[in-house]
Amino acid sequence: MDKIICPKKQYTYEQLCQDSLALMDRYPTLIRVKTIGYSVDQRKILAIQLGTGIDNILLSGAHHAREWLTTPLLMDMMETYAHAAETRQSFRGFEVKTMLEQCCFWFIPMVNPDGVTLVQLGASQFEHQEDLLRWNNYSEDFTAWKANIRGVDLNRQYPVDWEAIKSDPGEPSLANFKGVTPLSEPESKAIYQFIQSKKIKIAAAYHSSGEEIFWKYKSSAAFAIKSEQIAMQLAELTGYKLIYPGDDPSGGGLTDWFISHYRQPSFTIEIAPYIGPNPVPLHHYDQIYQANKYVPFLLAVNRDAQD
Ligand SMILES: [Zn+2]
Repeated sequence: MDKIICPKKQYTYEQLCQDSLALMDRYPTLIRVKTIGYSVDQRKILAIQLGTGIDNILLSGAHHAREWLTTPLLMDMMETYAHAAETRQSFRGFEVKTMLEQCCFWFIPMVNPDGVTLVQLGASQFEHQEDLLRWNNYSEDFTAWKANIRGVDLNRQYPVDWEAIKSDPGEPSLANFKGVTPLSEPESKAIYQFIQSKKIKIAAAYHSSGEEIFWKYKSSAAFAIKSEQIAMQLAELTGYKLIYPGDDPSGGGLTDWFISHYRQPSFTIEIAPYIGPNPVPLHHYDQIYQANKYVPFLLAVNRDAQD
């Protein structure tokens, strides 16, 4: 049987929509597709459910537009796990089918579909091309774009220490503008409301680049020890470095908010070696996939860690 997901190409929003439905068709007892909101330009924000268990686990990708390789990475993982469950495979001694009966993975593979479309297909896809050009410093090359289509950085939108966010340009920009209020953008608001509607036990947000894992945000000592233990397992699995934040980290990120608000473990995982302000070159994909394939499994094993 051929694989549905072909990750090593420019993976578009349309491909995501098509592949989500194809996965649900092939694995109807394991996979469900849900629209949890709409972007500024009315693209769907999809949450894809894998598994039927009661313990919810969240994996998100492409908050930042140019980091779109995280989308096919998550789609590829989903197909691997669904196939492994159907064919009764075990990962490190745990039967995948049993794991998907106990857990429910929620994949939100493309938080920022408008931004990804801008990076991949350019400003001609949008009506406000002049604004986009201005916010992109008058360059027609949008491959460095991180923000949503209104020039707001979606990972600086969550309500934790939002007022104190550092290095904010104060106006729409290709990167780093936190917006005029927390959750002003429909994409971050959709993620926030979705998380509030579920009891998520553990989460990972995929970004690029730097091969790093962020795991701590002003946590209590006891909680930090549990989180650090999981982070160390993730570091060993992926080969990525653990990042120890200073005493005064800049807030507003999904992982920051999730840790602070729920006191449950959450990780920001930066795939790929440092590649500057660019999409991750596709030739890194196989290595990235091998490094991250067991991350959902590791989250599942550690899902009961909490403060
Ligand atoms: Zn990022």
